[in-house]
This record gives sequence, C-alpha cells and structure tokens, in this order.
Amino acid sequence: MDGQTKPLTRTVNLILLGPPGAGKGTQAEILVETFGFKQLSTGDMLRAAKNSGTEMGNRVAGVMERGELVTDEIVVGLIEEQLATVAASGFIFDGFPRTLAQADALGTLLEKTGQSLDIVIEMQVDDAALVERIVGRAEKARAAGQPVRADDNAETMTSRLAAYHEQTAPLIAYYREKDVLKSVDAMGDIDRIARDLGAIVTDVTDT
Ligand code: AMP
Repeated sequence: MDGQTKPLTRTVNLILLGPPGAGKGTQAEILVETFGFKQLSTGDMLRAAKNSGTEMGNRVAGVMERGELVTDEIVVGLIEEQLATVAASGFIFDGFPRTLAQADALGTLLEKTGQSLDIVIEMQVDDAALVERIVGRAEKARAAGQPVRADDNAETMTSRLAAYHEQTAPLIAYYREKDVLKSVDAMGDIDRIARDLGAIVTDVTDT
C-alpha cells in the first residue's frame, strides 16, 4: 500500500490462502497496519505453545518439525478460543483453515458468533520459487542472529508443500463455490502484492 492507514468501515473477515512461503504472514502484517485487522495465525499460536513448553506444544512439536499438519481438533480449538475472547473490526485468518474439515468448522464458528466470511484470497505462487524463498528466509534470520524456524529447510519444505497440495488446495474450489474467492499473483514485488490485496479489501468495504 502507500503507507496510509484506512480503518475498516465495516467488519471484514478474510482468509489468506496459499502454500508455505507465499508471503501470507508478511502480507497479513501489512493489512493489519493499513486496515486495523486482527491477525490470527495458527502457525504462530502453535509455535508459541511449543516454545513455552505447554502440554499441547510438546505434542505438536514433532508434527510441525516434520512439516505435517497438526490435528483439526487442536487448531479449531485455538481459533475458537480467539474468536470467543478477542474483539476486532475484522480478522485475517493466516494459515487457517488448511483442511476441508477446518473450513467447515470455521464457517460454523463464525455463524455462531453472528459473523460472516467475506473474502478468501488465494495467493498464487510457483512451487519452484517457494523452496528458495523459505531457505532464503532461514539464511536471512541466521545472518541477523534471529531464531530460525525448525521447519524452514529444504527437506521439511517438501512435506509442507505436499500437505498443502493434498489437504489445503481443495479449499480453492470449496471457496470458489461459495463465491468468496479472489486470486492475486503473489510472485514479485511485496508492495505491488500489498496494493492488490488492499484493493480487494477496499472493494469489499466500499460496496
Ligand atoms: P505456518 O507458520 O502457517 O507455516 O505453520 C507451521 C506449521 O504449523 C505447519 O507446517 C503445521 O505443522 C502447523 N499448522 C499451522 N496451522 C495449521 C493448521 N491450520 N492446521 C494444521 N496444522 C497447522
């Protein structure tokens, strides 16, 4: 975007859908800054549980390190808790839902709280570029002396991509059918992608 803030004029709940390394987290942060969304990242919540050594965190650590998906029950529970306790003018679901069962559960949870799902944005990227991006993200963090994600390496990335194609990609057709799907080209310049996403949000709030 152009660095200006544009508070949401009505409640908008949106999903950023895309493979690992598509830039969901980066773009979610920009949307939070621009529009005042509240970001709900199940990956961040799971890493926080793992790092603080909770019982659930210990249970999911191995699954995450192998690049597999944790159970629907755990992630749906995390989102349910957030929706029940956090107030926001709009949520960005980042990395959730990742299975059809999670998508159904989210629909039910939003309905229960009198909310709707307004937009699902599919971030389109080339698989080949993703491994490079993720390995690059790890190298950058290492060089800056920052912690490196245990699952940001070429081997785990292969499993994460397989999980995406098998379990998450079917959500594209699921949401297309519900008429809430938009797609953006998520390769290339971060600012251009942010502008494209911002235009989709503005389009929805202005109509
Ligand atoms: P992320 O930060 O979104 O890439 O997530 C990191 C890891 O956390 C994934 O590879 C999964 O092991 C786990 N994870 C995050 N979100 C979900 C989800 N919605 N369903 C299942 N597993 C998840």
